[in-house]
Amino acid sequence: MSPSPEHDRSRPEAAPLAPTRDGRPVSDRGDTVCVIGAGASGLTTVKNLREHGFGVDCYERETGVGGAWNWRHDRSPVYASTHLISSRPFTQFPDFPMPDSWPDYPHHSQLLSYFERYADHFDLRQHIWFGTEVVRVEPVEGERWDVTTRSTGGYGPERTSRYAAVVVANGHNWSPKLPRYEGLAEFRGEVMHASSYQDPAQLRGKRVLVVGAGNTGCDIAVEAAQQASHCWHSTRRGYWYAPKYVLGRPADQVNDTLLALRVPLRVRQWLYHWTLRLTVGDLTRFGLPAPDHRVYETHPIANSQLVYYVGHGEIAPVPDVARFHDRTVELTDGRRIDPELVVFATGYLPRFEFLDPKLLGDEGAEGRPRLWLNAFVPGHPTLAVVGLVQPDSGIFPLSHWQAVLFARLLRARLTRPERAAAFARRVTAGAGERYSGAVKDSSRHWFEVGHADYLRALERALHELEASRK
Ligand SMILES: Cc1cc2nc3c(=O)[nH]c(=O)nc-3n(C[C@H](O)[C@H](O)[C@H](O)COP(=O)(O)OP(=O)(O)OC[C@H]3O[C@@H](n4cnc5c(N)ncnc54)[C@H](O)[C@@H]3O)c2cc1C
Repeated sequence: MSPSPEHDRSRPEAAPLAPTRDGRPVSDRGDTVCVIGAGASGLTTVKNLREHGFGVDCYERETGVGGAWNWRHDRSPVYASTHLISSRPFTQFPDFPMPDSWPDYPHHSQLLSYFERYADHFDLRQHIWFGTEVVRVEPVEGERWDVTTRSTGGYGPERTSRYAAVVVANGHNWSPKLPRYEGLAEFRGEVMHASSYQDPAQLRGKRVLVVGAGNTGCDIAVEAAQQASHCWHSTRRGYWYAPKYVLGRPADQVNDTLLALRVPLRVRQWLYHWTLRLTVGDLTRFGLPAPDHRVYETHPIANSQLVYYVGHGEIAPVPDVARFHDRTVELTDGRRIDPELVVFATGYLPRFEFLDPKLLGDEGAEGRPRLWLNAFVPGHPTLAVVGLVQPDSGIFPLSHWQAVLFARLLRARLTRPERAAAFARRVTAGAGERYSGAVKDSSRHWFEVGHADYLRALERALHELEASRK
């Protein structure tokens, strides 16, 4: 594979090659790299691969850029009131700042305009095939990949092209994770996953049960507090509800200052704990269950309004759901409630339906890939996943540096193959390593990373490759 400095605008079907194993024709895209998805992670991958001289074909199943942040997209999980949870400076790409005039926590419409400007500024759209979904990615000899695409929705013929490398940037916040409950099928009320929640009008005047205390569940409970005739909020355990501001600063910025000063975890836990005691106070006084874990042991919930509305009697905290009946919901404490609408804010699962799960090291662990740095695939040096992280800050800078590292790895394969081989050994040895400090290893935290630890690990990997350059 050699980087191609010139602009490659030819259609993927341009150069026919030998047929695939099942007889389909395949066109050879030579040294070109295939990127799947044009959300934040895909865009930064296209940009960084181009800057390193590689030709790129990016396939995007939707008709525009922005991924999850493009509310026009079928699978977009954002709702009318979605704002960033991570603050602006910790979310923007390192080489493309958001405007200073924007708030600390911009609205999703601002995020979409940010991605559109990023795509235009770096002239990325010409490399993206919109309305085209990837349906299969298969390894072929020589560490190359056959990528089969079709028009989104299945119209028109399938088309297979052979690529030198593939980056999967398909996002992990679009395939709903739905719990199984006895009796749910018989329940006569309305049931939806948070992925279908778009507007507070869906809650207006109804008796609403929100299940789940992730950031989305808390947001929807707060909206239900203002719109619904009654709101129950069901959680399995007690959580720490952190305010979005501490000392007048976005909470992630205060946390980052402590991380930059290398304050030990125990001291940070103590400081965070006391900050919460001074601001939010004793949660059990509000009828919320006491957290069964220390701060920093679960993904941070940043919500300044949840406890406020509990204190105003507009949100009734309730325990886990035991089972559903035709018109009521039984809780684990034996109580029965009668919601008209149940919103499951129970998270998302990763899905790589176009790849054999074994390729990503998933040996039956419910779709959990086994990667190094959450990105690099043992045994497949020309395949990477970008954006498969859930940090305690914004994702975009992490996706950016993952893309830079993959681009430099592809270059090292040409210029210093022995360093690329050493990298490959590191990928195999380090697969499954975690960068999440004290956070518990549950399915909710499969992709959890502490951004400071994670960026340090990426930087080390970059230095190892850079040290190899002549
Ligand atoms: C309510 C909510 C709030 C959030 N708040 C924050 C926040 O404050 N900060 C933060 O950093 N993150 C936040 N996130 C996480 C969010 O997922 C990321 O910000 C971001 O969207 C990740 O970008 P991505 O490109 O990796 O994935 P996505 O944005 O999901 O983009 C993936 C793209 O791949 C395309 N695609 C998927 N499969 C295929 C296929 N087979 N073929 C072709 N194209 C395909 C999709 O159409 C999509 O455009 C939030 C998520 C939610 C749901």
